[in-house]
Order: sequence, then structure tokens, then C-alpha cells
Amino acid sequence: MEVKFCPRCGTPVQSLLRFGTLRPACPACGFIHFANPRVAVVLFVADGERVLLVKRKVAPEKGGWALAAGFVEYGEAPEAAAVREMKEETGLDVVVERMLGLSFNEADKVIVLLYQARATGGVLGANDDVEEACWFTGAELPELAFDSTRRTVKAWLEGEL
Ligand SMILES: [Zn+2]
Repeated sequence: MEVKFCPRCGTPVQSLLRFGTLRPACPACGFIHFANPRVAVVLFVADGERVLLVKRKVAPEKGGWALAAGFVEYGEAPEAAAVREMKEETGLDVVVERMLGLSFNEADKVIVLLYQARATGGVLGANDDVEEACWFTGAELPELAFDSTRRTVKAWLEGEL
């Protein structure tokens, strides 16, 4: 995000050396704009022989099937974001069981937390930026979007999750 004016006092910001690097900073009031990384959560949910996937309604990989995912809001715990995103996208209530991994998406500068969760209730449906939400067995898997989805589903199929 490019910042042109100080959000605190409205003075045009300058590129100033602050905490070891050049950052947009306000010469009038001292405000510093920190470009913080975004954090996303991805949820792997299996139920016996079936895995939960969502069909994406938006880019990237629009139309592809992936694990449910979304961004963590400011001030929100990652596990809470995982539960919220799953409810928003699929209507299901889940309990987060464990973290499966952490990765960095270089292209989008996003830190990605992968969680395993278990469905505990709710009614399966598609909402938000999801076109469909379905359970699939390993034998009937659709075209998968994202390397991370393919890797995670493969590990599950091979009994590693
Ligand atoms: Zn200012």
C-alpha cells in the first residue's frame, strides 16, 4: 500500500530512515507507517474418508477447488479467524485441532498458517467468496487449486495427516 499523507495529521509523508530502513514517515508529527505482512489461515478438515473443499468464486484460481481460507483481521487470534472463515465460507462449525504448517507466499507477501480442524456442527452451504462447498473422497477429487492444497491433500491421501 502506498501512503501519501499522514493519517494522523494530514501532512504529506516523506521517505525517512526509521528503524533501520526507509519508511513513509510524517515530518510534522513523527508518525511512521509500518507496512506489516498480511496473515492468512488455511483449514484442512477431514471426516473419515472425506475431505472438505470449496470452489473458489474469486481470483486467484477462480473455479478451482481448494481448502477453505481467509485473512486474519487486525486484533484477531489466528485460530479464531480459522473458525470464523470456515463458518462464513461453508456454514460449518469447526474446532481447530493443531497447526500443520507455516509458509510464506512470496508473490503476495502473505504469511500462511495451515490448520487442521474438525467439523462439529452447522449446515454445509456455500457463502461469501465460495461458489460451492463439498466433501470429497480421495477417489472423486476435483481439479485442485494451489500447490498448498495439492500438497496437503496428497499428504492426507498418503496417511500422513
Ligand atoms: Zn503527521
